[in-house]
Amino acid sequence: MNRKIIHIDMDAFFAAVEQRDFPELRGQAVVVGGRPDSRGVVATCSYEARKFGIHSAMPTSRAYQLCPHAKFVSPRFSAYRQASEEIHKVFKQYTDIVEPLSLDEAYLDVSETDYFNGSATLIASEIRSDIYNAIQLTASAGIAYNKFLAKLASDQNKPDGQFVIRPGEAEVYLKSLPIGRFYGVGKVTESKMQASGIKTGGDLKNKTLVELQRLFGNSAEYYYNISRGIDHRPVSSNYVRKSLGSETTFQNDISDTDQMLKHLADLLHEVLKSLLNRKLLAYTITIKVKYADFTQVTRSYTSDTVISVDNKARQLIPVLLAKTDVNKRPVRLLGVSFSNLTSSDNVSDSGQMLLF
Ligand SMILES: [Mg+2]
Repeated sequence: MNRKIIHIDMDAFFAAVEQRDFPELRGQAVVVGGRPDSRGVVATCSYEARKFGIHSAMPTSRAYQLCPHAKFVSPRFSAYRQASEEIHKVFKQYTDIVEPLSLDEAYLDVSETDYFNGSATLIASEIRSDIYNAIQLTASAGIAYNKFLAKLASDQNKPDGQFVIRPGEAEVYLKSLPIGRFYGVGKVTESKMQASGIKTGGDLKNKTLVELQRLFGNSAEYYYNISRGIDHRPVSSNYVRKSLGSETTFQNDISDTDQMLKHLADLLHEVLKSLLNRKLLAYTITIKVKYADFTQVTRSYTSDTVISVDNKARQLIPVLLAKTDVNKRPVRLLGVSFSNLTSSDNVSDSGQMLLF
């Protein structure tokens, strides 16, 4: 049986809440995040701000350069949490199988829902209208037969829109899609794929599993499947992510520590961005080193304060790397991951949210 999965994603959520609650911000370029003179980053910005090239995870100082007249506001997590609770009340009316990804994003499995004769398209549009009636904020929806496709689809007609990918339509849809838009392909992987001639979903699909394994190791099967629109992961209402990381295998083993540090910095940047997108913070950082002879070691550091903010993680990487044998042994793979994760809504507004 084909599953019916809806991915709901609120539109410019934090910024939309600010514009709803402060009418003087409506129609304005709004940047929710740190002060423009701080080292913080943009958490969310309004669609008006996006026209100036501002986007999430960009340093606020850069956002200020792009649009000095933008309204820079500090996040009010209590307001976002409250809106998030209302959204979940709506979800519960349609299904119990809800997997939140962050305050403003969730997967819903509506395979067993009878409303509208089981039409997931109509259910999605009703959910969006219920959300609007409850909290006066717009949402977008993606409807498909698995999570990977539903998430891609919710981006298609944003804001305040929805898009369906039916069985049989996925391959055509994915074929021309730029590789960077595939979920799970970060910046580092994207440039590696580009270098191997993989620019679109079609290019990815043309690679054999063996070729992908040579390029991407353990992740090969995931890439092989998503290029075919295959994703069997269930929507899991009690799913809690344990860790988040990224790694890269080198075409040729490397021995230069500076080069390793540069790769680790790129990986770190990628993982920090994924954490930010999922509104997660971490207390533990781990680096993974696989030597040329395929033996591998990990080195970790755990703090009692959030570590995935500001420059903390960046400063720890050389310290952790120095605890390995990289000055004596060539390296074929490096990885960075974070664990001991917590949702950023568990951390107080004024507390350790240095990112914002
Ligand atoms: Mg969103």
